[in-house]
Amino acid sequence: MSTLYIVGTPIGNLDDISPRALETLETVDFIAAEDTRVTLKLLNRFEIKNKLISCHKHSGSSVFTGIIQRLQAGETCALVSDAGMPCISDPGQELVAMCYEHGIKVCVIPGPTAALSALSISGLDTSRFSFEGFLSVTKKQRRAHLEEVKGYKHTLIFYEAPHKLIYTLKDMLEVFGDRRISLCRELTKIHEEVIRTTLSQAVTLYESLTPKGEFVLIIEGAPQNDNEATLSFEDALDLVKQLCDEGEKLSNACKIIASKTEFSKSELYNALC
Ligand code: SAM
Repeated sequence: MSTLYIVGTPIGNLDDISPRALETLETVDFIAAEDTRVTLKLLNRFEIKNKLISCHKHSGSSVFTGIIQRLQAGETCALVSDAGMPCISDPGQELVAMCYEHGIKVCVIPGPTAALSALSISGLDTSRFSFEGFLSVTKKQRRAHLEEVKGYKHTLIFYEAPHKLIYTLKDMLEVFGDRRISLCRELTKIHEEVIRTTLSQAVTLYESLTPKGEFVLIIEGAPQNDNEATLSFEDALDLVKQLCDEGEKLSNACKIIASKTEFSKSELYNALC
């Protein structure tokens, strides 16, 4: 029966693949893979032979349409990404939506995902969290994203590439203030590591150390201080003025109060200069 299977694959250790995932990869009519070379290695490891087609974020609509047509003709397809769950900071969302539009069944074969694996061993609050994915590569958009979530009380989860890590940590420190962070690195691989520290210490560490491998950043939520959370803009401006009266420079005073309230440094600064 026409079905698109969304199949989770390991995020490092190939032994994390589930028997149901293996059976699905073996029995579907074809596999749509983010990178066929990566998936071929997985198939070879488990001696699975099946037809692979390429389906990645730059695939044109003709690729999706082709898959939909095959599914409509009664075939079954497994969608896999290079690692973890498809559709989670990986391709797939568009194809899933198209399947629903065309009345095609979508079935999940759950597997590991780096975000939840990291959260579970972060040592931070796991009861409520927000998955924020990757930050933008442009500084302005990255800062805007951080400003948007800085008031969230629940734990924040970010994906980050090693070459951008230090810039992200510095921006987080500036916007969030000095919160606790768990840097979860190379999960399920030989060099799996969780560095439980603060944003300021993480900045110091990675100013002198080149980060290697894949990272998930788990950051504690905004402080649970109701007084600060309910401060009005006028109250926040008064606090800035108070700091200035005590000798703090306006820009620094705005930065300090921004880190303690839901208002941004620029909002406060622009209102006072
Ligand atoms: N779809 C995947 C999932 O379910 O986790 C995520 C794919 S996203 C393109 C890749 C990012 O996930 C990496 O940049 C890193 O932030 C994170 N990641 C993937 N594997 C990881 C691992 N073994 N350890 C730590 N982070 C990992």
